[in-house]
Amino acid sequence: MASESTLRFGAQTDEVTSLLRIVNMVRDGHASTRPEIGRITGLGRGVVTQRVDQAIEMGYLEDGAFGPSSGGRAPRTLRFRADRGRIITCALGGLHIHVGVSMLEGDVLEDSHAEWDISRGPAETLDRAHAMIDELLAKTPDVPVWGISVGIPGPVDFESGRPVAPPIMPGWNGFDIRRRFEEKYDAPVWVDNDVNLLALNERSRRGDEHTDLIYCKVGSGIGAGLVSHGRIHRGANGAAGDIGHVRVASSEAACRCGKVGCLEAVAGGWALVRDAELAIAEGATGLLAQRYRDGEPMTPTLIARSAENGDALAISLVQGCARVVGESIAALVNMFNPGAIVIGGAVVSAGEVFLAEVRQRVYELSLPLATRDLSIVQSQNDRREPLRGGAEMVREQLFDATFPRWFADGHPTIDAVQGTP
Ligand SMILES: [Zn+2]
Repeated sequence: MASESTLRFGAQTDEVTSLLRIVNMVRDGHASTRPEIGRITGLGRGVVTQRVDQAIEMGYLEDGAFGPSSGGRAPRTLRFRADRGRIITCALGGLHIHVGVSMLEGDVLEDSHAEWDISRGPAETLDRAHAMIDELLAKTPDVPVWGISVGIPGPVDFESGRPVAPPIMPGWNGFDIRRRFEEKYDAPVWVDNDVNLLALNERSRRGDEHTDLIYCKVGSGIGAGLVSHGRIHRGANGAAGDIGHVRVASSEAACRCGKVGCLEAVAGGWALVRDAELAIAEGATGLLAQRYRDGEPMTPTLIARSAENGDALAISLVQGCARVVGESIAALVNMFNPGAIVIGGAVVSAGEVFLAEVRQRVYELSLPLATRDLSIVQSQNDRREPLRGGAEMVREQLFDATFPRWFADGHPTIDAVQGTP
């Protein structure tokens, strides 16, 4: 195509910039007709027509139905071609694998979930994940894979896609997760911390591109994802938001990371399980104690459910956790001034028992200006959240971060996305 050769990256910067902007404008719903594009960009009618024609020719946009008329001839609407590529999302948890397939608009078409112990190591775990993904790909239309996201429950060096000393993932330190997926699916891959993906899902759900929010997950471990002005704040090495291993004053509890007194060792789900079992061994009674003595395994979810049902031991454990988590969140609120704090994870499923305590601590310990418009809410608690967040991350990387590098090819490739010729 003639337009491709003239549109090579770097050749005609203004032309390329406006073309990519127009594609993204239609993609994110800011404009859906040529006149609208003209109004927003200030480009003349002839230029808009030319750019839109190029975008259609390259397969990024297509003509839709006629839109509402504002007097004259009704303008033709434009649509982003979300059917051109697929996104694979893989969310690894401490005890599960969850995979999904989305089209380019991000909705999860198919997903599958399996219980799995991540400490079995990267080779076995990724083989299993790949087998689950292959099953899904076989079920959905035969469309090329444009991007892959992998979420893991530990710190990730986002640039290299490798885990960095993840406390609950023995054998994974420095493992090249990205390459394993690239080799298998021949598509660009991004690896991120699972809580960052949850934060991204929350951002896209709210539809506010300038949002400032913190997603705090209190599951077996504790972590936070920070969205600053619509962007994930990963920090210099990708460690931002890893609040689970910040020391909590006055505690000497041993943590699974090897240190003592970490937030997680006091208030993480695994610490609550430890404390519940100890209390029951020392003679505690009630619903939770009864169920445990009847042979049910002690889990953060069981503790949260029992608290919801009024069990005194469970309530005191959940409230104790919420108090300490609330103190850590208050510190973040003072530094970061988010508009919303969204809290998810197994322990938080106790609902108001947990949230009321967090709110109280945060308002007590934060500056009035920082909490003036702050909302503290529970996450939707939907199992697909990490998959939607993963698809959102791929969309952001493809169309915001790397689009100029690959658009001329008509589809993303590993080399173009990574900027290697
Ligand atoms: Zn720790």
